[in-house]
Amino acid sequence: MVLEAAGQPLRERELPDPEPGEGQVLLEVSACGVCRTDLHVADGELPDPKLPLVLGHQIIGRVIGSGPAAGRFAEGDRVGVPWLGWTDGTCRYCRSGRENLCERAQFTGYQLDGGYAERAVADERYCFPIPAGYPDLQAAPLLCAGLIGFRSLRLAGDGERLGLYGFGASAHIICQVAVSQGRRVFALTREGDTEAQALARELGAEWAGAVGDPEASDLDAAIIFAPVGELVPEALRATAPGATVVCAGIHMSDIPSFPYELLWRERTVRSVANLTRRDGEEFMALAPTVPVDTQIQLYPLSAADLALNDLRHGRVRGAAVLSVGEPASG
Ligand SMILES: [Zn+2]
Ligand SMILES: [Zn+2]
Repeated sequence: MVLEAAGQPLRERELPDPEPGEGQVLLEVSACGVCRTDLHVADGELPDPKLPLVLGHQIIGRVIGSGPAAGRFAEGDRVGVPWLGWTDGTCRYCRSGRENLCERAQFTGYQLDGGYAERAVADERYCFPIPAGYPDLQAAPLLCAGLIGFRSLRLAGDGERLGLYGFGASAHIICQVAVSQGRRVFALTREGDTEAQALARELGAEWAGAVGDPEASDLDAAIIFAPVGELVPEALRATAPGATVVCAGIHMSDIPSFPYELLWRERTVRSVANLTRRDGEEFMALAPTVPVDTQIQLYPLSAADLALNDLRHGRVRGAAVLSVGEPASG
């Protein structure tokens, strides 16, 4: 499924099989998660995507070939491909353990073709082995919703009372991780989104309700998953002194101005950008110990546009996943 220009629907196209280059593996894709970032790329909210482009950066596939100098995986190995697809390894960010900020980074499904396809190639150094207990479809959302959520949770600090703004793919995973760490989770959704609120309670949230409800206050930390700038002052208002508010998305509407009083008493507002390979390794080791149970809404590859549209309109429970090829099993 190909994005030919921003703002247009994806088109089903027959493309030649990609050739694995230096250090790359060729994958037969079995599943690919659908992320809000895909929607931002398709809508033209992120600048300069490769065009035409195959979206998708939560790829589960099996190795069916390797390019020159690629030897990390054997044929048949199951691997996951995340958003971080390549870094230069030499810039000041890479040299200081911050490859997520690499000046020349390339991202899967943005500058590199991704996983809304039957075949994909990926630099083997950025792929992850997938924990054995997860079937392909359930594993796919771990690769971005899980990983970026995990990085956001870590950057939110160790506070006990955690607010999650927006309860979609990422929040439904991170809620489980946070509860397993003994935190108290408050899930804040759009008013009337009783389905997301019910899911939050099912997954261990102590409280779920609408944004602005005074029941969710005095929070030690908040993570904003919804791409809505108004939520930043809103979340600050609901936090305790010293709290951190983490903006977890790659794109957000403008943040309205707000009184300094909301930030006063050492509150912090910060963003989270991308992932490092270390985040991935740590999260893939952690997920089965929680254990994180991903709830998925399944679409065939050819319905990728429908999946994006459902995501746009808040009609996805848990994480949307594309099933590619034969029905996948563990
Ligand atoms: Zn770099
Ligand atoms: Zn993503």
